[in-house]
Amino acid sequence: MGVIFDHSERDIFDETHHRFREQVRRFYAAEIEPNVAAWEKAGGFPRDLFRRAAAAGILAPGLPEEYGGGGGDVLHLAVAYEEHGYSPAGAAIDSGIDTDASAYLIYIGGTEEQKKTWLPKFAAGEVVGEGMFTEPQSGSDMAGMKTTAVRDGDHYVINGSKAWITNANHLDLCLLIACVPGTGERPEFGVFLVDADAPGVTKGKPFETLIRGCGNLGELFFDGVRVGEDRVLGGSPRGGIGLAARSLNMTRCIYAARSLASCELALAMTLDFVKQRRAFGGRLFDLPTLKAKLAEMKMEIAVTRPFIDKCLAKARAGVLGPAESSMAKLWATELEVRITDKCAHLHGAMGLSNEHPISKMVAAARAHRFAMGVSEMQLETIMRSL
Ligand SMILES: Cc1cc2nc3c(=O)[nH]c(=O)nc-3n(C[C@H](O)[C@H](O)[C@H](O)COP(=O)(O)OP(=O)(O)OC[C@H]3O[C@@H](n4cnc5c(N)ncnc54)[C@H](O)[C@@H]3O)c2cc1C
Repeated sequence: MGVIFDHSERDIFDETHHRFREQVRRFYAAEIEPNVAAWEKAGGFPRDLFRRAAAAGILAPGLPEEYGGGGGDVLHLAVAYEEHGYSPAGAAIDSGIDTDASAYLIYIGGTEEQKKTWLPKFAAGEVVGEGMFTEPQSGSDMAGMKTTAVRDGDHYVINGSKAWITNANHLDLCLLIACVPGTGERPEFGVFLVDADAPGVTKGKPFETLIRGCGNLGELFFDGVRVGEDRVLGGSPRGGIGLAARSLNMTRCIYAARSLASCELALAMTLDFVKQRRAFGGRLFDLPTLKAKLAEMKMEIAVTRPFIDKCLAKARAGVLGPAESSMAKLWATELEVRITDKCAHLHGAMGLSNEHPISKMVAAARAHRFAMGVSEMQLETIMRSL
């Protein structure tokens, strides 16, 4: 069952997806929800959470078994993301135990040897890796990045910095995109697999954000870091931006599914709240103008679901186009901003309290508009399809 809508009515899923949903839901209920308040006080969730998630069988569900994955498909990954969105602790851990988007980058772009080396470690929670595109001076404009990887014999020497990296404090492996000068007429961009404890890599202080949860976004600095050719993703220091675009195409629609789940959770929490809170001699729920807002939100969620499901089905079939993926991401994350804001408002002052998940959900929704590309960048992609 969904929080408001019934997942069994969604014909994109089969029994394996429904069972996997229960598995992920049990993990959040047992391992994450009871602990987030303590982790917030401690300043972050423990590194061990990745291993526990792996032991519960919920990491890398969409990767083939030969790479240590669950042997499922893109929809199993979507289910994991949705359950993150349905959990009241989801906003507090932010991107949390998700390393699957980075594993996917290796899966689609890595050599066979790189896939065999790294993917089982991701799936076992032994390696925490993250894609690194954003720099302090350039986010949306990837071509404006200043980090370079310069060839020196059979090595590359990396200099630069990356910002707003998810789980920076827990990172073992940086999937870093860097400009490789001198390989053609124009600068090329390659993706490099860099150990986070290699000489020359330093981690900055985590960013303080509006979310005030127990996730972590941070900076990393690279000063003369040497990597061998085996650490160039796919063996070629070219085509990194195209590879990132392919990876983002899939992860954006999964991100959209998570945002829609958060919308549903926000509405469910708000329904509970207004049904028990009394004012003007009755329940808040019975005030007509308030009830109309709830009805409107339910409608917006319901009419969004089929489009997201269509995109997920296309992603599984390998035929999801960039414009559709961008439409899903833009629409669902903007809807999440509107709905979490309205729901927080309907909680009155409680909607501001850091004790209540809805306040963090408002902040997380704003972050989701940025992560995986800002709304305006999604619009540009959609415009190219006109
Ligand atoms: C929760 C979270 C997790 C993240 N995790 C990672 C990570 O793991 N790895 C990583 O590399 N990055 C990560 N990021 C960074 C994220 O990818 C960037 O924030 C995003 O790409 C936008 O870049 P920016 O913040 O530099 O904003 P900018 O690109 O500077 O944009 C600023 C504003 O300019 C406007 N704008 C931008 N482009 C256009 C355009 N073409 N047309 C019109 N207006 C435009 C938008 O309104 C935007 O809000 C994360 C961010 C968040 C919030």
